[in-house]
Amino acid sequence: MTKDHRHDDIIELEHSYGAHNYHPLPVVLSRGEGVFLWDVSGKRYVDFLSAYSAVNQGHCHPKILATMMDQAQKLTLTSRAFHNDQLGPFAEYITKYFGYDKVLPMNTGAEAVETAIKLCRKWAYRVKGIKEPKAKIIFVRGNFHGRTMGVISASVDPSSTGGYGPYLPGYEIIPYNDVDHLEAVVSKPDVAGFIVEPIQGEAGVVLPDQGYLAQAYELCQAHNVLFIADEIQTGLARTGRLLCCDHESVKPDILILGKALSGGFLPISCVLAADEVMLSIQPGEHGSTFGGNPLACAVAIAALQVIKDEEMAQNAEKMGSLFRNRMSQLVKRDSILNSVRGKGLLNALVINDSPGSETAWNICLALKNAGLLAKPTHGNVIRFAPPLVISKQEMEESCTIIEQVINKF
Ligand code: PLP
Repeated sequence: MTKDHRHDDIIELEHSYGAHNYHPLPVVLSRGEGVFLWDVSGKRYVDFLSAYSAVNQGHCHPKILATMMDQAQKLTLTSRAFHNDQLGPFAEYITKYFGYDKVLPMNTGAEAVETAIKLCRKWAYRVKGIKEPKAKIIFVRGNFHGRTMGVISASVDPSSTGGYGPYLPGYEIIPYNDVDHLEAVVSKPDVAGFIVEPIQGEAGVVLPDQGYLAQAYELCQAHNVLFIADEIQTGLARTGRLLCCDHESVKPDILILGKALSGGFLPISCVLAADEVMLSIQPGEHGSTFGGNPLACAVAIAALQVIKDEEMAQNAEKMGSLFRNRMSQLVKRDSILNSVRGKGLLNALVINDSPGSETAWNICLALKNAGLLAKPTHGNVIRFAPPLVISKQEMEESCTIIEQVINKF
């Protein structure tokens, strides 16, 4: 197939006029449906990134689309200066769906994390009785919670933090997957919260040991410290359960959601908590012009409904096992691969090369040419996270593409 001339022109436009804050693969996409994406020349790809798990429900899911079209013609934004007729029903729907008292809607993931941090501090001062401004929040190494100042202040990744100081105080950063270390710090006075990704997605799909989340949760409970789960990437059926914390029967004190909360249609995020925590924030103390807008509320209900109706968690569990089984065989046969890891449909192949090498990038370029889109994360790790609606046949065919490409390296 000949390359559409627009391909290079569009990339050039983006390069000339857009900030250089990303390093995309050289593919220009113009259409998506289900697990597939098409570029401007009409070439089809299987999407194994799902917009970093924002498109769990598949591209342009028809039921979410219909809801969006319907609501967009009625009312899109009022701000929170007035009530709109969608926020109340959305709040009831999502709190019942996840079993919390209250929801606070925002837009992007990073904003929801900021909201959780602010909420945790307010609770610490108003309920726990920590003296302002002493509240401390514990983060773990390798975390990725977004790009705002409050969030990168907890990062240990120089590409996130370099050149942006000074950073926000009041954080303590401990190793991931280390219960003993957590035990040593969680009992200190003035600790308000512990925030964790149940699986570290951006760090390269790093899974903690079985039992880590449950033990961490128990430690937090024992010391009246809020257990805050950032399920922005791991949530909404991605790992084979509605929430990744469900694997260990942990119910976070503060649950942070984003990405697939809209099925990829618009930025929708939120924080869920019990009244004791959520009501620490009073009118006028936090918010966002677009947070809780009627379009987002209607879309989020539809996005959550299809996850249950179409049993996406169950499919993620089954297709994830299939993927890891096929890739485990490949890892045994092919010395360029070190390992495969993951849960449900959040998986990664670790390439036998240093994190600074180009191999993973070159494999992703070759996968693209073969019709499958994936992206390296942190050098030598390639994340594979297709939409959760992927069928067995689509998964088998995708595994074959990956095997054929890897065999050539
Ligand atoms: N938290 C986690 C775990 C994420 O993976 C991401 C994005 O990748 C974020 C927060 C930030 O979300 P957003 O890019 O919507 O601000």
